[in-house]
Amino acid sequence: MKISKEHFKKEYRRSLTSLYASEIHDLTPLEQYITLGSVVKDYTAQNWMQTKKEYQQDQAKQVYYFSIEFLPGKLLKSNLLNLGILDKVREGLAELGVDFAKLEAIEADPGLGNGGLGRLAACFMDSMATCDVPGNGNGIRYRYGLFKQKFVNGYQVELPDDWLRHENVWETRRENKAEIVRFFGDVHLEEDANGQIKPVYSHTEDILAVPYDTAMTGYENDTVNNLRLWSAEIPPSEEMDYFSEERRKSIHSISEMLYPDDSNYDGRLLRLKQEYFFVSAGVQSIIRYYRKLGVPMEHLAEKISIHINDTHPTMCIPELMRILLDEEGLSWDAAWTITMKTCSYTNHTIMAEALEKWPEQMVSNLVPRIYQIICEINRRHLDSMSPLYGVNFTQRTAIIQDGIIHMAHLAIIGSHSVNGVAKLHTDILKEKALHDFYLAYPARFNNKTNGITHRRWLLLSNEGLSDLISDYIGTEWKKKPNELYLLKAFKEDSVLLEKLEQVKFENKQRLAAYVEETMGIEIDPNAVFDVQIKRLHAYKRQLLNVLHILSMYLKLKESQSGEEIVPRVFIFGAKAAPSYSYAKEIIKLINAAADMINNDTTIDNKIKIVFVENYGVTLAEKIIPAADISEQISLVTKEASGTSNMKLMLNGAITLATLDGANVEIRDKVGDENMLLFGMQDAELYHFYDSNSYHSHEIYDHNPRLKRCIDALVDGTIPNIEAEGREIFDSLLKYNDEYFVLKDYDSYVQAQSRIDGLYRDRKKWNQMSLLNIANAGDFSSDYTIMNYADEIWNVHHNKNL
Ligand SMILES: *Cc1c(COP(=O)(O)O)cnc(C)c1O
Repeated sequence: MKISKEHFKKEYRRSLTSLYASEIHDLTPLEQYITLGSVVKDYTAQNWMQTKKEYQQDQAKQVYYFSIEFLPGKLLKSNLLNLGILDKVREGLAELGVDFAKLEAIEADPGLGNGGLGRLAACFMDSMATCDVPGNGNGIRYRYGLFKQKFVNGYQVELPDDWLRHENVWETRRENKAEIVRFFGDVHLEEDANGQIKPVYSHTEDILAVPYDTAMTGYENDTVNNLRLWSAEIPPSEEMDYFSEERRKSIHSISEMLYPDDSNYDGRLLRLKQEYFFVSAGVQSIIRYYRKLGVPMEHLAEKISIHINDTHPTMCIPELMRILLDEEGLSWDAAWTITMKTCSYTNHTIMAEALEKWPEQMVSNLVPRIYQIICEINRRHLDSMSPLYGVNFTQRTAIIQDGIIHMAHLAIIGSHSVNGVAKLHTDILKEKALHDFYLAYPARFNNKTNGITHRRWLLLSNEGLSDLISDYIGTEWKKKPNELYLLKAFKEDSVLLEKLEQVKFENKQRLAAYVEETMGIEIDPNAVFDVQIKRLHAYKRQLLNVLHILSMYLKLKESQSGEEIVPRVFIFGAKAAPSYSYAKEIIKLINAAADMINNDTTIDNKIKIVFVENYGVTLAEKIIPAADISEQISLVTKEASGTSNMKLMLNGAITLATLDGANVEIRDKVGDENMLLFGMQDAELYHFYDSNSYHSHEIYDHNPRLKRCIDALVDGTIPNIEAEGREIFDSLLKYNDEYFVLKDYDSYVQAQSRIDGLYRDRKKWNQMSLLNIANAGDFSSDYTIMNYADEIWNVHHNKNL
């Protein structure tokens, strides 16, 4: 897009006059931000219309990515980057006396996701637009995003995230594209005049689903795709008559709040309502679009691909069946063939508590017609499988078992593709978690290792490193990120290595200033910045990290002379689900340890703990460029992929990791010697499970140093923890340490102890850092998306990337 600086300045002035009828300097920063946003939105609007027109003219096959979460981060800077006008706009604003950084800070970070799942969906939107994949996001416009986290006396407190308080400049409300979603009531089947069986509904509760569209801009390619988020409103027919306050609340509650939990199944009716709400609205709008193409319904799968991101949108399958059967009058077999060809499913977890299961009676009550269709899918599945595989095997794959509907089973049976999100994870799906399904449908199973957009996670968040890279290998890597590989040639270039160290140092200084300003903690940018940022969950083992910190601290206290260690800053960022009390106890423990250690003047600032409040995309963008160590220490097999591992690697951090999730593939790229690996591997863990032979107490009894740290939880060593210390202590010993923290402890401490020596050898360290960056390009979500496009969706993408 050709926009000159002068043109921008003119547009900015014109826009602020028309919005506020004021001079620049009379505007508040918020007003200046909104003005800028509206100018940028104008710039994208042309491409947005054009892209839509081209897709329609070409009748290009479209992908609809259904996800109950999207975590896009702020859009101002990324839109400017993608339009190719970031520098011009920054300069133009400066000439007008406006500080871009200040405006950037005002934008709300849409927290419409919990963590990795929602962030993946956002990276995919970015990559689809950049790779010219005709892609659409479909989700919920939550009035309140994930809670805002505060610490009070070390405890997590949750506050509402009122992200829409100020105008959201990026969204466009499209009332004319609204859909009606039906809940409850009775349904029975009747034959109509043509002998067609049709459902007749009575006493339903109808909701109006209104879409809000947000432009997803591609990187310097003029493609703009659409993210459509649905909001629940009162249907027009009801505005006058039987409107009650109670009914209004019940309707609005559907898109009111994001569920603050991504790893525990929550059986609340409202969650099921949310799922059907965005699925039904989305699928109806797809069919409405498709009908306008004038292509027979039988060809749907040639024009449309519906992707089910985790099980939450699984009702896409029965909803599409419903429309094909009830509205299009197709036979069951015809509808089923179309549905299977159209739908594909990504599995994100093997953790039992996260697998969605709904009571049959709840589904039949809330969405009776969908329930009938699920029953029929199940019945036909059993009928066709039993003769081939026998009754027992077939029963294990049933969708409905003992009154419970298994959403993952429905997703697999109704899709032509089932993918895991890293090699190890996909292998586990095939061999263990979904083994029966793999035997029945081997061709459906495939791997698509997650990725991250290097635009947000390097170009935007680490401009210093981006510029340094371009100085050495040119700028092609920005469009073809695997060209980062060219950096390998400079492995012995001491000038580059020193510059790399310098960029990292400046990023650490920036983060240190931010930490000092916001938390009042002074940290030294010469220390090793050791980072663990992710949701708080037992399987991610933040506890292992803290136990090691305690042991480091106690050792430092004991060796009077003050052992020479490289100063270390441990940085944590993590929210715990409000109902997950164990996770909240770990937060309290980390904060209590931070209080004790940060205020202990006898250790000469050798260790600091920084636990940032309210971890989210914006904070991740500040922390990641400053990281030296990336903690990826989950219990092996439990982290399906992980993506913060990729972001940190891309920014030159050294990964300290178990061979879990995508860490395995990071190892395959950089080699063991450029990582710090530790811990059990999957075979050993499965052996423990099979033989029931793990006894954490034995380790505790035989390891005095570990014992000392664990005892610190309950013996008063750490001031200010009471019940939570005991609960954590009991989880490790009385309840036999479900996540094998004690088992991996020694090996973790050993890996940790290598860091100082490596870090002191600055050249060696910088080389490792460089090789991590050089090998990170393959984890760009651009490649992930092109693999989805080729191997699952069969849609067009730009072949030149
Ligand atoms: C990348 C990201 C995650 C995922 O982190 P993992 O370590 O892979 O769990 C979670 N939250 C935010 C804000 C992220 O940017």
